[in-house]
Amino acid sequence: MKVVYSSRYTIDIGPHVFPTEKYHHVHERLQATSAPGFEGIVEPQMASWDQLALVHTDEYLEKVRTLSLSSEEIVELELPLNEPVVEGFRLMTGGTLTAARLARVDGLSAHIGGGFHHAFANHGEGFCLFNDVAVAIEVLRREGAVSRAAVVDLDVHHGNGTAMIYGRDPSVFTFSMHEQHNYPAFKPRGSLDIGLAAGTDDTTYLKKLEGALPQVVAHEPDLVVYLAGADPFAEDQLGNLMLTKDALRERDRLVVRTLRAVGCPIIIVPAGGYARQLTDTVDIHVATIEEALTALG
Ligand SMILES: [Zn+2]
Repeated sequence: MKVVYSSRYTIDIGPHVFPTEKYHHVHERLQATSAPGFEGIVEPQMASWDQLALVHTDEYLEKVRTLSLSSEEIVELELPLNEPVVEGFRLMTGGTLTAARLARVDGLSAHIGGGFHHAFANHGEGFCLFNDVAVAIEVLRREGAVSRAAVVDLDVHHGNGTAMIYGRDPSVFTFSMHEQHNYPAFKPRGSLDIGLAAGTDDTTYLKKLEGALPQVVAHEPDLVVYLAGADPFAEDQLGNLMLTKDALRERDRLVVRTLRAVGCPIIIVPAGGYARQLTDTVDIHVATIEEALTALG
């Protein structure tokens, strides 16, 4: 399995709950492992503005390109808007596309970056400037490499941007399992939404996931993007689920094995993770990649 990553992902966004340095730490930890099946790091290709325009409106992209989002829009985005931030997110969007191409060839790939599911066609929010997941799917669809896609979004926050983008497109199945009473307040309906109560434990979580995955399989996707958010973890600052690291590992195993059993290509992206201790977030993201490597063997 190849893994896409760039050292340019550690974007300076000032003091922030979103630790962009997590990507660097995950990469470092992965380099130190001698896990069989790991075939090395691939550098991402920058997403072009034309590729971004397959998902985003021209008006939004123009405002981003000229750094002229309104102050209200920047508040909603919850990121500083400057050239390094725009370029960093554009590169990470390209990274998800690069990884999606690898998944189509190798059956499985991972990206140490991306999963920006709160970006809508016409605006960004919640640390998400571009919807890398939708951009990757749309580029591959244009190229004829993918016709039916699915998104398995297990970040603790609902995948509102992705759900909205594909709200009227039955060829892309969007599954989100998240904490119901948490950000985002507006949760456009996806193909399958499971809203969990605060305090949900390992057993309940895994049971619901096991019950839901057959619906993803039934869609018969030729590409699945898996958002393996680290934020359902009990110690997360932006989530209130009570999952242990072991359960998150079990979650990853369940997703990867279920989809691989039916021969579906999978790309894994990290999405969110805001544990009080950065090392916990890094542990969870690394474990996701380890589980994917194990599934190969
Ligand atoms: Zn999240």
